[in-house]
Amino acid sequence: MTGDAARPGFAIEIRERYGAVANGRWPVSVDPLPDELLSSWLHRLAVANGIAPRSFAGVLGLGERMWSPRLDLRLPRHVAGLLADQTGVPQEVVGAMTMSGCAMAALLLPLRDSTHRNRSTWMQYCPQCLATDDAPYFRRQWRLASRVSCFAHGCGLRDRCPACRAGIAAFDQGELVPQHFCVLCGFDLRAAPKASVKAAARRLERAIADICRVETAKGSAKTSDAFSRVLRMPVAADVRSGRTLTNLSTTARIRCFEALAAKPPDWLANDIDCAGAYRRWMIVAAGGHKVLIARFAKFLETHQGSPRRKRPPPVADRSALFTAYFGVMQRGNARASTRGNCNSIAGHSKSMS
Ligand SMILES: [Zn+2]
Ligand SMILES: [Zn+2]
Repeated sequence: MTGDAARPGFAIEIRERYGAVANGRWPVSVDPLPDELLSSWLHRLAVANGIAPRSFAGVLGLGERMWSPRLDLRLPRHVAGLLADQTGVPQEVVGAMTMSGCAMAALLLPLRDSTHRNRSTWMQYCPQCLATDDAPYFRRQWRLASRVSCFAHGCGLRDRCPACRAGIAAFDQGELVPQHFCVLCGFDLRAAPKASVKAAARRLERAIADICRVETAKGSAKTSDAFSRVLRMPVAADVRSGRTLTNLSTTARIRCFEALAAKPPDWLANDIDCAGAYRRWMIVAAGGHKVLIARFAKFLETHQGSPRRKRPPPVADRSALFTAYFGVMQRGNARASTRGNCNSIAGHSKSMS
């Protein structure tokens, strides 16, 4: 044991001449988990094979600090080949765990080894996800500055150890300790207190994720427009306005989302073409693309079979129309939240008319 009763450890650790000891395939292979980040898989792989993550860098011929987060961003071909050969996990599966070529690259949290108050760290986590994992692991989506809560658990993400305020540094773990224990103080991150995020902010977060996803799929210049507006969220929210979103701690970004959730999304949709603005407004007002599609389908269903009721569209001021629509949808969402079901579409379909 490591001597610390709070942390599991092992008496034997192979550090030297690992290649000679375990030539051929490494003794243990570890299957990648859904949306797992490469560095997370590497830390689990190292511990499973009896070598501390910090020493595993040497096995891969790497010596830099933050060696595994660097591989998340750029995985050299020979390292990908070595990993595939030694584990039997296909090279394309290994490559898919990286963030290289990620369409959302502009929103990635910067690699940062130090933690200053209110500044971002390189990685976030959901304590409840870690607590419910059979093998706790870090997700690719937690690397994005546009993510501040867990869609599965509805709680805020964290970017620090609540006990010592250090960032995640599993790459620097010198003992055989799983990655959900703080490297600095040994705190079990699964036990971190729940961070709350207002429901309206979580709806905005989901809408922004959808807008970025939809516009990324289109692959047009509008993609960079949406991303640059998201990066400027602190300015729009007047929260730490000198900084871009990627530079703020998760706590500060949660404040940004909560501030902007209380305002109409002009900051996201002004000065662009009518169709683009309308789409963004609708996604934000509905609280996500899926909800919007569901409401639209319900609207069509309700109005099918009565073509004679069709009237010519009234001439209306676009901004006033959007504002009125946004108000109706927000009130609808508030009622749905009160009932404990923010995705409910019942009762809202009439607001589409
Ligand atoms: Zn979670
Ligand atoms: Zn700690």
